[in-house]
Amino acid sequence: MNLTRRQPASKSEYISVVIPAYNEAASLPYLISRLDEVFDGIGETYELIVVDDGSTDATWEVLTHSKLTRGTLRAIRLSRNFGKEPAISAGLRAVSGAAAIVMDADLQHPPELLPKMIDLWRSGGPLVVNAVKKIRQGESMIRRAGAHIFYFLFRKLTGLDLWHTTDFKLLDRSAVEEYLALPEHGRFFRGLTMWLGYPAVSISFIPQERPPEAGGSRWSINKLLGLARHSLISFTALPLQLVTWCGIITLLLSIVLGLQTLWQKWSGEAVEGFTTVILVQLGIGSVLMISLGLIGEYLARIYEEIKGRPQYIIAEVMDKQNPK
Ligand code: UDP
Ligand code: MG
Repeated sequence: MNLTRRQPASKSEYISVVIPAYNEAASLPYLISRLDEVFDGIGETYELIVVDDGSTDATWEVLTHSKLTRGTLRAIRLSRNFGKEPAISAGLRAVSGAAAIVMDADLQHPPELLPKMIDLWRSGGPLVVNAVKKIRQGESMIRRAGAHIFYFLFRKLTGLDLWHTTDFKLLDRSAVEEYLALPEHGRFFRGLTMWLGYPAVSISFIPQERPPEAGGSRWSINKLLGLARHSLISFTALPLQLVTWCGIITLLLSIVLGLQTLWQKWSGEAVEGFTTVILVQLGIGSVLMISLGLIGEYLARIYEEIKGRPQYIIAEVMDKQNPK
């Protein structure tokens, strides 16, 4: 880990902004003009990296027609929709600035927070600035309940508290490099950046509603469940130990039930136990199936990792220089 930068970063060090975008043709023009305004306001140039994650709308066309007044634009088009995590990695790999800010394309992460994040980083202390949600709004009951369960389990199983955290973060270049050097393929940006343990500060923001013209969240419930499963599995092996505990508990129960059954048999009482047999069978059957499923989940992850396929495939890169 390189934690040596204790000198405040100088103003000549420019910032890279990384944006994963999947079908964001409606929001990108607004976002880009607001970013331009923000950097104009602080009198700095920046590098904007937008990763088109296999969009099926006009996202790529919007990018090819975009003009920045204050920055250089690098647009990266992935060959298909790989998902937000691979898109973030693709963007971070292209970073040439002294720090990178990762943010969503849908204006839920307000660009107006950027000067504060940059100031905190430039002050020379933190190498990571986390923007955390003050409140969760604009989410359905089911999503909110799902989030509660996921963060609770994550905290209990891994000891990392991700409640209210987001992917809206500033990372010093050294943290970006450390993150990209991690050998795993199925990366979980939010958890891993915390796991790196770099000096960090948090600032809070109120997430904006997704603008109606930008459509709904790009995450289906299915994709979210997949992310929750993957991130838990990649951070903890505790569920596997729970399987062992389930086995021990079942063993203890079977000793008690076994002794009771034998006692009844020896003492001449008729063993009247068809119901018990069915219940025990069902109970043990379920525990076995769930345990096998759990082991299967880990096996699948090992299989995915061992194949060593790249996280994403880049189809096209477009660079636009700052006209100024
Ligand atoms: N996104 C992506 N690939 C995907 C899904 C989402 O690059 O497969 C991007 C999306 O364009 C947006 C960000 O990830 O910039 C967050 O997505 P969204 O706003 O749908 O997520 P939510 O705000 O509901 O967490
Ligand atoms: Mg969003």
